[in-house]
Amino acid sequence: MTNSGAPRSWGLTEDQVRIQSKARELANEVIGPRAAEVDRTEQYPWPNVEALTEAGFTGMTVPKSLGGPGHSFLDAVLVVEEMAKVCGVTGRIAVECNMGAISAVLAYGTAAQQKLAAGFVLEGDKPAICITEPGAGSAASEMTTRADRKGQGYVLNGMKHWITGGGVSRLHLIFARVFDQDGTEEGIGGFLAVRDETPGLSFGRREPTMGLRGIPEVEVIMQDMAVGPHMVLLPPSGFKRGFADLMNAYNSQRVGAGTVALGLAAGAYELALKFVKERHQFGRPIAEFQGLQWMLADMSVQLEAARSLTYRAAQSRGEGGSPFPDAALAAQAKIFTSEASIRVVSDALQMFGAAGYSRRNPLERMYRDVRMFTIGGGTAQILRTVVASRILEMKLPQRRNS
Ligand SMILES: Cc1cc2nc3c(=O)[nH]c(=O)nc-3n(C[C@H](O)[C@H](O)[C@H](O)COP(=O)(O)OP(=O)(O)OC[C@H]3O[C@@H](n4cnc5c(N)ncnc54)[C@H](O)[C@@H]3O)c2cc1C
Repeated sequence: MTNSGAPRSWGLTEDQVRIQSKARELANEVIGPRAAEVDRTEQYPWPNVEALTEAGFTGMTVPKSLGGPGHSFLDAVLVVEEMAKVCGVTGRIAVECNMGAISAVLAYGTAAQQKLAAGFVLEGDKPAICITEPGAGSAASEMTTRADRKGQGYVLNGMKHWITGGGVSRLHLIFARVFDQDGTEEGIGGFLAVRDETPGLSFGRREPTMGLRGIPEVEVIMQDMAVGPHMVLLPPSGFKRGFADLMNAYNSQRVGAGTVALGLAAGAYELALKFVKERHQFGRPIAEFQGLQWMLADMSVQLEAARSLTYRAAQSRGEGGSPFPDAALAAQAKIFTSEASIRVVSDALQMFGAAGYSRRNPLERMYRDVRMFTIGGGTAQILRTVVASRILEMKLPQRRNS
């Protein structure tokens, strides 16, 4: 077992070890050296996107029938982890190019929709998933964006916020409340839109974020946005159960988000491990102080546990014929990993003393970056509800009187 990377006992195949080493090399030589600048300039790192695409690290999960390499989720997770060790932003881009909205389109889309989305991610587009609204965060089903049937297609009106990649993504998967010709509500559906092509799709204010500053979090506005029937993503059970089906696709994104947190923590741990051997106080390396040894031991335990949960959740895709990872495993992985990673990065920063608090040190950036993962993509509180509902085999309504 290595002291930081995935242990060989994980049973990675030779091909997976090869993917992991190739990703590690790209991360260390190309992505890492640019990470501070991406954070400082708050610019979307197009050169990193190009590097990922050239290395074959976008569209990894696209099947061979659609021109992709047909890699597993775990293969993609290995790449995301390596990117996030050195740059959380690039880790997130790798998630969305492999296991975000793309998973929903590959699972539910028509042949034409699958081809369209596959083409985008294989070229490095990071599709945006547009669910959250100012009045509908954790209570996502209370969204007010509406899609009214007009002829064969729909007209969408509404506004989403905190949409990752808004303004840089080309492909958008937008969730909306669906109404038929007579104004009767049918459920929640997914609609595809393409930046610069779909009239009525525009972008508003960008959030000034604490971390992960190289990816815009933006308002996405739909104003009389007309989509033809070919852009309606209809889950197998139709609009009535469409929301549950579409949210299932989020299990993929949750595994990806957990992996970015894991990568950030693993990267921070590696920096701390090196530093404690080099830094001397009281005439000896600080690694010789038991106070820090136990911190390192705790960090390694949390990392290995987080890695086990995350890889297991990634491997659950396909079990029982599901195109997505298991909901409870994905939630467990994201809860544990996001919370443990905050602790690990914080402890790594502590070991650096004042140097950890300097903006010259990557840990300052990693500390801000890792804080997000208990919030975005389902908060740690909401995900506990997902896990509890599985354990208790109960639907756990959160609304009063329901
Ligand atoms: C960096 C970032 C990127 C994001 N990217 C996207 C994106 O690309 N697309 C998208 O659609 N959304 C995105 N989001 C939005 C994200 O999914 C929401 O922020 C999240 O679902 C929580 O919603 P909220 O912020 O409105 O918090 P609220 O729902 O208002 O929650 C506030 C607090 O109350 C708690 N809470 C709420 N309900 C319950 C309950 N029933 N039980 C216990 N506690 C509860 C929450 O856990 C939280 O602590 C992103 C968010 C961030 C920070």
